[in-house]
Amino acid sequence: MLAAERAEVLRIRKERNVPHEVLERVLHLLDVEESILDLAIGTSTADRDEELEAVGAGDGACEHLAATPRVVTAETPDGCAECLGEGLTWVHLRLCLSCGHVGCCDSSEGKHADAHFRHTAHPVIRSFETGEAWRWCYVDELTG
Ligand SMILES: [Zn+2]
Ligand SMILES: [Zn+2]
Ligand SMILES: [Zn+2]
Repeated sequence: MLAAERAEVLRIRKERNVPHEVLERVLHLLDVEESILDLAIGTSTADRDEELEAVGAGDGACEHLAATPRVVTAETPDGCAECLGEGLTWVHLRLCLSCGHVGCCDSSEGKHADAHFRHTAHPVIRSFETGEAWRWCYVDELTG
C-alpha cells in the first residue's frame, strides 16, 4: 500500500513538477505513517488520501500567487547571491519574484531562498532551474 503511494507521489512529481520541498514533506509523512502502521495494522487510509490530494491544491492560486508576476530579472543570474559571496555551493536555485534575489533551495547548505523569505517576507519564489516553471508561496505553502 505505502509502496504504491510512494510510486504515486513520484508520478505526480513527474507530471506536475511539484517542488521537491513539498514532496519531501509528503514522503516524510508517509514514512511516519509507515512506522505507525507497523504498530496498528488495518488503520483507515482516508486521512492519508486527503494529504496526498493537498499536494496538488496549489493549482488554485492564493492572493500572493495571483498578485506576483511569473517573470522577473534575476539580480545574480550566476547563482545564489549569498553562496557566491561566501564561497558555498548549492543544489538548486530559487528566484524571488518580488525583488529578483536568487537563493539556494532547502537541500542546499545555505538554504538562502528560505532565509531571504524570513528576512524580507517576500512571499513567492519560482524555480530558477532550466525547464522548471513552478512557483511557490511560502506564506500559504502553495504551488501555482
Ligand atoms: Zn500565498
Ligand atoms: Zn545559498
Ligand atoms: Zn525578494
